[in-house]
Amino acid sequence: ATPTALLVGTGRGAQLGILVKGPEVLESTRRVDTVVLDKTGTVTAGKLSLVDVVPAAGVERADLLRVAGAVENGSEHPIAAAIVRGAGAEVGALPDVTGFRNREGLGVTAELDGREVVVGRPRLLAELGVPLPAELRSAADAAEQAGRTVVAVAVDGEAHGLLAVTDTVKPTSAAAVRELRALGLRPVLLTGDNAVVARAVAAEVGIDAADVVADVLPSEKVDAVRRLQAEGRVVAMVGDGVNDAPALAVADLGLAMGTGSDVAIEAGDLTLVRGDLLVVADAIRLSRRTLGIIK
Ligand code: ADP
Ligand code: MG
Repeated sequence: ATPTALLVGTGRGAQLGILVKGPEVLESTRRVDTVVLDKTGTVTAGKLSLVDVVPAAGVERADLLRVAGAVENGSEHPIAAAIVRGAGAEVGALPDVTGFRNREGLGVTAELDGREVVVGRPRLLAELGVPLPAELRSAADAAEQAGRTVVAVAVDGEAHGLLAVTDTVKPTSAAAVRELRALGLRPVLLTGDNAVVARAVAAEVGIDAADVVADVLPSEKVDAVRRLQAEGRVVAMVGDGVNDAPALAVADLGLAMGTGSDVAIEAGDLTLVRGDLLVVADAIRLSRRTLGIIK
């Protein structure tokens, strides 16, 4: 490979909105056969909104929103942002909490007015020994079937209610998945969100249900990439979040969304400046073409 041709390739990359860490990156891009896509913020816009508020029996809607909004105020997760916006719009200023703790990939906890509050996935409440009453369980199932992400709230060890948030698929994601397939690549959806929501998003963009890996903790995203590599696949990983960084680093090719976190950008080999997935196919075509010239 002549260095000059590779450098021409990286210059063209910059024009397309692809920042390449080093010319050698194009070489690994050529062998990629599987593209793992993070869901939130990569396939979807990552700008969520609060769409359902379901208080437990005897709980006031405003209290559910106030408690959940106050605790989520300490989190930077896109789900937290949606809850803080939605709660703030309805109940106004949110009170301060103490002892805030982030349970990565699960939710958040804090104390408010001497009450112990948990806000997170239903699995977190289950782990903490908080049962969901039947009417909340069926509300949760219905919201998930509708493709929404359910957030459960507990106060002092009892279910306080449910919130559901929803995200929208980026307008270019389905076309991008079609382009990846046209290049002979297999798209895989990887997410910490639950399987029902993940499958709904996969169906919307044209990823097979069998290629959905859901319910993974942030620390498990990297294992999911390693598992595909162990099957002999050459894996490109596309992500935007802090918790995608380890997976971006172990992938054969890490593509960071330029709209995402600095940690992800640092871990990636390529940065997709535009933040839409059509550029993934551009990057792969570019490297194939560049290396074709060299050969
Ligand atoms: P993703 O792969 O969608 O970026 P994360 O690993 O960040 O997911 O989170 C996985 C799941 O954990 C979320 O879908 C959500 O159910 C739950 N979760 C994480 N952080 C929070 C939070 N601050 N509030 C409520 N739920 C959360
Ligand atoms: Mg993400």
